[in-house]
Amino acid sequence: MRVIDVAIVGAGFAGLAMAGALRRAGRDDIVVLERADDVGGTWRENTYPGVACDVPAHLYSLAAHPNARWSRTFAPGGEIQAYLRDVAAREGLGDRLRLRTPLLGARWDADGSLWSLDTAADEPLLARSLVLACGRLTEPYVPAIPGLESFGGPIFHTARWDHGIDLTGKRVAVVGTGASAVQLVPELARRAGQVTLFQRTPAWIVPRGGDDIAEADRAHLAAHPGDLARLRADLYAEGEQRYASRSGDAAASAAARSAALDHLHAQVADPALRAALTPDYAFGCKRVLLSDTFYPAVASDAVTLEPTALAAVDGSTLTAASGRSHHADVLALATGFASTQQPYADLVRGETGTLAAHWSGGMTSFGSTVVAGFPNLFVLNGPNASLGHNSAVLMAEEQAAYVVRALCERDRRTEPVLRVRPEAEAAYTDEIAAAAASTPWLTGGCRNWYVDDRSGRLTLLWPGTVQAFRERLAATDGSEFEPVSDQAADSPASTAAPGETIPHTPA
Ligand SMILES: Cc1cc2nc3c(=O)[nH]c(=O)nc-3n(C[C@H](O)[C@H](O)[C@H](O)COP(=O)(O)OP(=O)(O)OC[C@H]3O[C@@H](n4cnc5c(N)ncnc54)[C@H](O)[C@@H]3O)c2cc1C
Repeated sequence: MRVIDVAIVGAGFAGLAMAGALRRAGRDDIVVLERADDVGGTWRENTYPGVACDVPAHLYSLAAHPNARWSRTFAPGGEIQAYLRDVAAREGLGDRLRLRTPLLGARWDADGSLWSLDTAADEPLLARSLVLACGRLTEPYVPAIPGLESFGGPIFHTARWDHGIDLTGKRVAVVGTGASAVQLVPELARRAGQVTLFQRTPAWIVPRGGDDIAEADRAHLAAHPGDLARLRADLYAEGEQRYASRSGDAAASAAARSAALDHLHAQVADPALRAALTPDYAFGCKRVLLSDTFYPAVASDAVTLEPTALAAVDGSTLTAASGRSHHADVLALATGFASTQQPYADLVRGETGTLAAHWSGGMTSFGSTVVAGFPNLFVLNGPNASLGHNSAVLMAEEQAAYVVRALCERDRRTEPVLRVRPEAEAAYTDEIAAAAASTPWLTGGCRNWYVDDRSGRLTLLWPGTVQAFRERLAATDGSEFEPVSDQAADSPASTAAPGETIPHTPA
């Protein structure tokens, strides 16, 4: 049976970044397994009105595929999805990309030193290495609200938007005030008859800025790649600067907090409404949102803010935790994603058990990418690889570069197996805990999805800048893996493959 060198699961930003990095390093023996009928991940699934990136699109894109043609600073979701389709085509994946091919199970076969992958196909697929790029915001979270099933009208999650429902003149209730809701509500305020917004916890919101990009500017960037690269570098540097305010630096947080309060003041005249929209926890504790249109929408006659959670549903009557009742024809759940328990973790069985069992106290790893007990396995955008201050794509690219280097290390071994030393994973976990200890994510007085409830550890966010992540991975020397006695003595432990280009992020 044919054995594939690297199987990648998921064809979102991370899976496509991985496939591109491998191919540019001369590694063509790959497959990308994608359960859906298209690439795109997040951007295929999220089509709600107003969906857009909140990191400028010139940075929220792959370094190997810069795009001069974005129509707006914060590109609409549909444009990002079209970009990712284009990337997949330009990477020339051909039949290496297998759509409608869910990974149903993966088992480490110690005898063959291979991953045996169950998909919908008849025969298991054998791969020397496995890269999980399954995302972390993929499974809509639907809160257990008593009576939800009794709601008479359409109910849908923002990640499963039903475009067949005409909202004109309808009473629409939105549950949640996170990143999706702040994009959705201003759109609904224009289209629906009346919007009721259930807010359990207000978010810190800062001005977004950004605009349409004129055709002349797009043409200029297309004709001058150097200017596009400089723009990207500037945006990267701006993003990195945001880390201080998000992570609790006293002066930076105070300045950002006051900018957010000024923004609220400038946009909401009613003191009672302002009070209801003011967070009571530290700046940065939850994801800081960017919007210039959310507060004006909430302050308008089109929207009623219910400043407590939706507590019960009885037909079209929605009762809030405050005891107040509201009525709706359509219910939109902007309730986020089940993000701490990774859905793929149950599917993957390593040397002694599943990833889910290994992560029963929350995700752990070395380098946010490799996991003890799971040889030749790499996880992208999993443990401590998310960001609250800069583009997530940058992190996936750094991880992809690390995977390429690690595969070189694997290939130098007579037994081509990389086993993470448990002590290396434990030490990295301690590093993360120490870096996170005084940040608002752990101490800011809010409940956020960066922290795993089971252990109270910060398991999703990388507690540092992108630059710090790059340096941390660059400092690895292969000693995170069990040594092999017969490894070629003169091989440096972690060098790039000949011709490998490290996916460049502007430094
Ligand atoms: C509405 C929204 C807006 C966002 N905006 C930003 C932003 O502006 N900036 C930013 O940095 N981040 C943003 N994010 C975070 C975003 O998720 C990441 O930036 C990025 O898109 C994640 O890419 P990914 O490839 O890791 O995961 P995904 O995009 O989720 O892709 C994972 C893929 O894996 C596939 N898959 C999963 N399980 C299996 C399986 N068992 N078998 C086969 N295939 C499988 C899925 O179908 C999916 O296609 C946003 C997220 C959301 C939801």
